[in-house]
Amino acid sequence: MNRRVAILGAGPGGYVAAIRAAQLGAEVTVIENDNVGGTCLNWGCIPSKVIITTAELLEKFHRADHFGITLEGSVRVNMPKVMARKQAVVKDQADGILKLFKQHKIHYLKGSGIIKGPGIATVKDPIGSETAMNWDDLIIATGTQPAMISGFSFDGQRLLSSNDALNLEEVPESILIVGGGVIGCEFACMLSALGAAVTLVEALPRLLPLPSIDEACSKVMLREMKKRKIKCLLSRTVIDWEEIDGRLKATIGPSPFLESPSDKDRDPLICIVDKILICIGRRPNSSGIGLESIGVQTDEKGWIVADEQMRTNAANVYAIGDILGPSRVMLAHVASAEGIVAAENVMGLNRKMDYSAVPGAIFTSPEVACVGLSEQQAQQEGYEIRSDSVLFRTIGKSQVIGEIAGEAKIVYDADNGKVLGVHMIGPRATDLIAEATLALRLGATVRDIGETVHAHPTLSEIMLELAHKAEGHPIHG
Ligand SMILES: Cc1cc2nc3c(=O)[nH]c(=O)nc-3n(C[C@H](O)[C@H](O)[C@H](O)COP(=O)(O)OP(=O)(O)OC[C@H]3O[C@@H](n4cnc5c(N)ncnc54)[C@H](O)[C@@H]3O)c2cc1C
Repeated sequence: MNRRVAILGAGPGGYVAAIRAAQLGAEVTVIENDNVGGTCLNWGCIPSKVIITTAELLEKFHRADHFGITLEGSVRVNMPKVMARKQAVVKDQADGILKLFKQHKIHYLKGSGIIKGPGIATVKDPIGSETAMNWDDLIIATGTQPAMISGFSFDGQRLLSSNDALNLEEVPESILIVGGGVIGCEFACMLSALGAAVTLVEALPRLLPLPSIDEACSKVMLREMKKRKIKCLLSRTVIDWEEIDGRLKATIGPSPFLESPSDKDRDPLICIVDKILICIGRRPNSSGIGLESIGVQTDEKGWIVADEQMRTNAANVYAIGDILGPSRVMLAHVASAEGIVAAENVMGLNRKMDYSAVPGAIFTSPEVACVGLSEQQAQQEGYEIRSDSVLFRTIGKSQVIGEIAGEAKIVYDADNGKVLGVHMIGPRATDLIAEATLALRLGATVRDIGETVHAHPTLSEIMLELAHKAEGHPIHG
């Protein structure tokens, strides 16, 4: 008999694991309590990038004169139409996933899955009736939901989650965004380009405060946000809010991470806005799904613990994707890669997840992307490093498309030139990072990149320029 594999959650982790397990001959059942595609398709990557595409286009229209176009009349965004396009894209992608399920003979059960013990689960459908099912292997891919500041709660009107912000029927005149991480910065650039007056509060002293992101990228991000009139308050946090005459008065206090705040830091700032968007992180969908019935280990915050083969401590139970929390990498493509590793291990292949060359892509203006180690991380790992940077303005294509802000940095082993990390902020950085990812994956050196012919005029020439500079013979600077 084929192995019966049950998968909880049909996000980019769960649905990809399902397809891979089916390809290898498993009898697969996917259980999903919302729409297929998970956070990524319904509340994350795809809808946000649809709206960002409109925001970027609008920004371009505002610079029409620069490109030699005279616009007569006004240009403005029509949010109901943007939302309709977003829904159409999401539906198209979701239909595609359902077709793939059919094609691979994957059973799809709509409802909430609850583990009842080893080999048993139930599925409660939207009307409340329960079906029991048996599994030989279980892959948990239940993902996350938006986290809230304690003492506050989302109301969908005034205090928004990222889910609410992706359903706006009109652009607010002003908005306070709490959290200057990836999601907060993406929303700040997007909403500002759509016409909102944006204030961004971040508790740490820099934007995008992730260890994998080079500090130079955070500095350029801050400068570019200032140029766009986004007000950034660093080392600050929102401590209270109230509604006054239909508007929201937020009090911004010092960050809890400040060790010895000065009087100036302690001075409360008042911010009057129409909406507050909270982007302070995510919390795991791990309670109420029956983990205790099979003894699956979680950490103190509820994130599931798994090894590099994606196995949990419970026999034949795997966990993948965002449910593993921030100690892994909470990105859609990582969830999918982990899903493939889990499915292949279920089916007897001996796979390990390799996190050494995982690209990060941030869809701000300009875009940010990174792969591998930052300078600091490389030094901490004991490498003797060198690094070089190149400004986008030195690349012909950057001038051609009128997007010259930003820079790229390459971090490499001083002994042998092996690429250890690449960090970029600039136009199309999220696409350009693919070359750096492959270089890292193949153990390439700066010479390998420098001897690779790059097409002209393309933004990819920034990789060539970086490599030439690292080799000591920059051509353009
Ligand atoms: C605003 C935003 C923008 C983002 N942009 C990007 C981006 O540009 N690039 C990127 O790589 N990542 C991005 N992400 C992150 C990305 O969405 C996640 O990393 C990815 O969705 C994780 O996939 P997953 O399969 O682990 O979980 P999810 O996508 O969260 O899917 C889990 C699914 O499980 C379901 N589920 C939960 N419990 C049960 C249960 N008991 N029974 C049945 N079903 C259940 C949930 O309803 C959900 O559909 C973004 C996230 C957000 C919020």
